[in-house]
Amino acid sequence: MNERGRYACQIKLPAWGGPEGQARLQQATVVIVGVGATGSAIAETLARAGVGTLRLIDRDVLEPSNLQRQALYDEEDLASGLPKAALAERRLRRINGEVSVEARVSDLHAGNVGELLDGADLVLDGTDNFLTRFVINDACLRAGVPWIYAGVVGTEVHGFPVLPGEACFRCYLGEPPPPGTTETCQTAGVLGPAVMVAAGYAAAEALKLLVKGPADAARGLFLTDVWTREGRRIRVSQDPECPACAGRYEFLDAPREGHAELCGQDAVALRPPGGKAAVLDLELLAGKLVSLGALETRNRFLLRFAPSDAPELQLTLFSDGRALVKGTVDPGAARSAYAKYVGT
Ligand SMILES: [Zn+2]
Repeated sequence: MNERGRYACQIKLPAWGGPEGQARLQQATVVIVGVGATGSAIAETLARAGVGTLRLIDRDVLEPSNLQRQALYDEEDLASGLPKAALAERRLRRINGEVSVEARVSDLHAGNVGELLDGADLVLDGTDNFLTRFVINDACLRAGVPWIYAGVVGTEVHGFPVLPGEACFRCYLGEPPPPGTTETCQTAGVLGPAVMVAAGYAAAEALKLLVKGPADAARGLFLTDVWTREGRRIRVSQDPECPACAGRYEFLDAPREGHAELCGQDAVALRPPGGKAAVLDLELLAGKLVSLGALETRNRFLLRFAPSDAPELQLTLFSDGRALVKGTVDPGAARSAYAKYVGT
């Protein structure tokens, strides 16, 4: 395909920097953490624009409730039982074969963030929880790489480009809010178009940073309610007490474990103790579980198992040792189900 023709409309933009700007974009490696609603929309936009390499990190499998707003996926994807990262990779390759797309089916945490973000020129947030954002913030500050916070709750959109040497996410929030104190997709719902607005802002900031560098980047936090059309910008100054800005990366050096309550689901995500990936032999495990209930899905990435003695639960077991326990919001009950069927 003629590259000039393909990207002609964006190259014409006076701010783009002409073919040189496009060439910078094509040399860039961008990591997107989470390819749910916001992350998958950002991924599609950047793939169409011709980013060189896109690395997609996501731990989840597609659920029926995702299709309301996660525009990269469809009903055939749902039936496939494949993880979102693998589905997104397949779809993006069809959208733009010139982009190198790498899917990582993984839960980003302090123990693997260095490896997962290695080589990134820019990191984009498509996650749904604050703890992961603090881990990303520390890792990006340590590596001197910009990242862009993007969040949607209800009808409200949040965005904040974090640039090396300037105010960071910890300067803005200090500490992750305690569980249960903030609204989530589960408590407040999500308006589909709000996702598109959040992804649009984040992708625009990403393209600016990649073709022009930080000069044109937005500073501070912007908030927009796409329902009321009220918006504001909040200036964020560098906090002289901020540990991350002082080079103390507490979220990397002293990882804080936590369960994750997933958006729109009655489920708890578990990861192996110590934050390190364990390798789960899915073949062996399937052999053990087959007499204990129904193996609903089985592929090289995961097993999905419904135990016959606890019909309210469904366990999705990933080859890196993680598990998603559906049918409970109690981390203790989820851990005990894991221990019961998988072992510790
Ligand atoms: Zn800071």
